[in-house]
Parts: sequence; C-alpha cells; structure tokens
Amino acid sequence: MLAYIGIGANLGDASATVRSAMTRLDSMTGSRLLTASSLYSSTPIDSSGDDYINAVAAIETTLEAPALLSCLQAIEQDFGRERPYRNAPRTLDLDLLLYADHCILSETLTVPHPRMSERAFVLLPLLEIAPDIVISGLGPAQAFVTAVAEQGIFRLP
Ligand code: ATP
Ligand code: MG
Ligand code: MG
Repeated sequence: MLAYIGIGANLGDASATVRSAMTRLDSMTGSRLLTASSLYSSTPIDSSGDDYINAVAAIETTLEAPALLSCLQAIEQDFGRERPYRNAPRTLDLDLLLYADHCILSETLTVPHPRMSERAFVLLPLLEIAPDIVISGLGPAQAFVTAVAEQGIFRLP
C-alpha cells in the first residue's frame, strides 16, 4: 500500500526530529520510505507555541491501516509526545493522511485525515511530492490550495 504521513513538530529541535522521524518511518515493519518532502515552517493554526516544522512522507507498507497508526503512535511516544490538552505544542505528530485510496471511519482512525484539506502545512508538502494526488471523497488536493493561501508557511532551503 502507498500511504502518506503528515509530520509535525514544534518542541525541541523540531527539524532534527522531523528528519529522524522519516528514518523511523523507513524502518517500520514491512515499510519503506519512498519520498520525503522538503521541510516547511508554519505558524501555529489551531495550536500554540513556536512555529512548526512540517513535512509529508510517502511510504510503501504492508501494514494494515490500524497497525500503521499504532506504529506511528509508538514513534511519537519514542520522541516523548505528550498530550496535555488538544492541539498542545508537541515534540512529534505523525498523522496518517492517506492510505491508498481507502476511506476509513473508526473510533480511532479516520482516513483521509479529516482536516488535511484545510491545512497549508499538509497540502503544500503533499503536493510537492505528489502533485496529482487525489483525496478520496474530496477530489484533487490541488483544488484546496487557494483556500489556504493566507496561512503562514514557507519551504525551508
Ligand atoms: P489533528 O488530528 O487535528 O491533526 P492531532 O494530530 O494533534 O490533531 P492527536 O493527539 O495526534 O491529534 O491524535 C488524536 C487521535 O486522533 C489519536 O488518538 C487517533 O486515534 C486519532 N486519529 C484519527 N484519525 C487519525 C489519522 N488519520 N491519523 C492520526 N491519528 C488519527
Ligand atoms: Mg495532527
Ligand atoms: Mg496526530
């Protein structure tokens, strides 16, 4: 399966964390990293604290989506993720954006990620590595870019 993972961090050495998270994605069971976007810096939107470092990674995986989510959460834990309140600053956030073209709705997992089309920090890195990507049920990701144009984000050199 081809899956896209949204990566975000705004505590500690966020750039280093995002880069090592990509290495960890590559070493998950039955998985390999296919493509990593550039790193982006974004102003917190629903969140607070320092600016975020964001990226998106494409992976190929034999894991089922729930098992993949568990692996992502285990990696978050290894980076000391705490959840004191909703949208709190975080050492590492790994969200499952897309899992092939599947639509999943369970108590613990919604795919496509329900807020991905409203977030420049997801759309821009995603489109960098997959310009023609379609968000299942919504349509081409490119169509949502204009609506997020006001969100503060830039690609790091
Ligand atoms: P947001 O989901 O708005 O980006 P967040 O990433 O900060 O917020 P978390 O605290 O990381 O939210 O996750 C809260 C819960 O979301 C997790 O326990 C997980 O079960 C659930 N969840 C549902 N769908 C997904 C998904 N596609 N990717 C990651 N987590 C998901
Ligand atoms: Mg998130
Ligand atoms: Mg999350």
